[in-house]
This record gives sequence, C-alpha cells and structure tokens, in this order.
Amino acid sequence: MYDDTNIFAKILRGEIPCKKVYEDDHTLAFEDINPEAPVHTLVIPKGKYTSMKDFSANASDAEIGALIRAVGKVAALKGVEDSGFRILSNAGDDAHQTVAHLHVHIFGGRFLGPMLTKK
Ligand code: AMP
Repeated sequence: MYDDTNIFAKILRGEIPCKKVYEDDHTLAFEDINPEAPVHTLVIPKGKYTSMKDFSANASDAEIGALIRAVGKVAALKGVEDSGFRILSNAGDDAHQTVAHLHVHIFGGRFLGPMLTKK
C-alpha cells in the first residue's frame, strides 16, 4: 500500500525542496541529502510505486523505460558515465529500504570498491 506521506511523495508534490538534477514526464532525479560518494543522486518515478517489486510488476513500459533512460542521462549529467558509476535500489526490509517510494541510487566520482561488505 503506497503511503502519500513519504518524503519523496512530498518532494514530487513540491512540499519540500530538492536539488533537482533531471526531470521528464515520468521521472525526477535529485541529489541525495546525505551523500555517500562525490556523486550520489536519486532517480525516482513520478508514479506511486513503493519499491522495485511494485514497479516491475505494475508500472507501464513507458514508465520503466523512462526510469532506465533517466539513469543514463543522470550519469552523463553528473560526469560519471565514462569514469564509472553504480546503481542500487534497496527493496524491502532485508535491503534496509528507508523510503517507501521506489528510488534508484546512482553513486560515482571515486573508486567504489567491491559490491558489498562481506559479513
Ligand atoms: P534507502 O535507504 O535506499 O531507502 O535510501 C533513502 C535515501 O533517501 C537515503 O540515502 C537518504 O539520504 C535519502 N533521503 C532522505 N530524505 C531525503 C531528502 N529530503 N532529500 C534527498 N534525499 C533524501
């Protein structure tokens, strides 16, 4: 169930500000408020999707295509398309998703090391 009070829903409605990087009919990209790399930008769909599980099952082909195209455009806008970047989308509790509106992180601007910390 989508919760309209989540922080990214408020950003989409213009109720709280963001540092916008890119926008089109289906997506918005903005800077993460707590960056974990020199480049840390979030790409979100404008539609009400809680996570990748919801989005992959219920979004239109146009929305899904737009999100992936937006990732490429943001990587180019942020200057990391050739140096390299990482995309990550946390879905659900085991992944520590903290905002229940689908978001794709784009990290870059330094060597990011191996994919996950082994525990
Ligand atoms: P996740 O843990 O994958 O759900 O990531 C949520 C991300 O949203 C975190 O990296 C937060 O720093 C980021 N975040 C939370 N509030 C805001 C905000 N108002 N503007 C931009 N990024 C935010």
